[in-house]
Amino acid sequence: MEQLLSMNLPELTDWLKALRYPAFRGKQLYEWLLKGVPFEGMTNLPKDFRAKLARTAVANPVRIRDAFVSRLDGTEKYLYELDDGNLIEGVLMRYHHGNTLCLSTQVGCHMGCAFCASTLEGCVRSLTPGEMLGQIVAVNARLNGDRVDNVVLMGSGEPLDNYDNVMKFLRLMNDEKGLNMSLRGVSLSTCGLVPNMYRLAEEGLPVTLSLSLHAPNDEIRKKLMPVAKVYAMDDVLAACRNYVEKTGRRVIFEYAMVGDVNCEPAHADELAHRLRGLQCHVNLIPLNEVKERGALKAPTQAQIDRFMKRLQERHISVTRRREMGDDIQGACGQLRRRTIMNEELESNGVK
Ligand code: SAH
Repeated sequence: MEQLLSMNLPELTDWLKALRYPAFRGKQLYEWLLKGVPFEGMTNLPKDFRAKLARTAVANPVRIRDAFVSRLDGTEKYLYELDDGNLIEGVLMRYHHGNTLCLSTQVGCHMGCAFCASTLEGCVRSLTPGEMLGQIVAVNARLNGDRVDNVVLMGSGEPLDNYDNVMKFLRLMNDEKGLNMSLRGVSLSTCGLVPNMYRLAEEGLPVTLSLSLHAPNDEIRKKLMPVAKVYAMDDVLAACRNYVEKTGRRVIFEYAMVGDVNCEPAHADELAHRLRGLQCHVNLIPLNEVKERGALKAPTQAQIDRFMKRLQERHISVTRRREMGDDIQGACGQLRRRTIMNEELESNGVK
């Protein structure tokens, strides 16, 4: 089945031409696709054309299967089902400056970070450009007139491990004839795949680079992130400096605070020293505890305050990530896991 949302308008028109349909049908079809309307609802297209499309193609490969809305702040958490039955999840955060959607780029993840739920069963597969765009299309359709303004690639998966599809997706979402969304509203988060960070700096795309640092040195970073055994922190930071130079945009460092591992005052000093002179901002994320990940625990409020103050004293721009939608689900990746496990139990006759 052809995934039409992976195509831009000229590609869609070419595809239709091969089926002997005129170009104006491409325009009509593309408009419906971006609105998330299923083939049968595309009322200005002839019936036989719609039937043919339904036999050969997929309108949106992403379907919202469950949605949970926070009573605290309006945050919405989604469980999506893909065309092949795989599940991914996403979060919509409502800020005064607009709606931000957290997108997944893979089903699961290869990277194996010690604290993360998304990587527990490895990576099932990478998402297509249409499956990334489809998450936005599905949420826009649900929002009824309101829409997604900004996008963070911080759901499951490692975006730079699915490089070509993510680049195609960014160009599709930015396309004037498509959703026409600004790339300045996009943050791409990576655990630090150095060669692809250099490639990204050459793409000419004004996206913000978020780097998952999580440690002040290689020794601690290796305990939390297997990728640190492949790329040294100095090389990761050099790739960040290059990104700042090439794009003129500051880099955001994400720092998951893990109690008794990386949030002592001495760690703040070391971090400030390593980041000196780099145009950046540090985002502290108190660990979201994942019970399958054993002993790792969240820091105390006192540890967070002390660490943050210490960085500020050393002139590092720093904020603590706001926790949103606390009442709807636990840490990233857990909704999908819980659903898969419940379904396995049910199919074994256990409830
Ligand atoms: N693969 C990308 C995107 C992953 S998720 C990356 O590594 O950046 C986005 C952020 O959430 C990353 O910084 C990731 O390390 C962090 N994260 C994952 N699980 C977490 C948890 N249990 N608590 C706090 N932060 C977590």
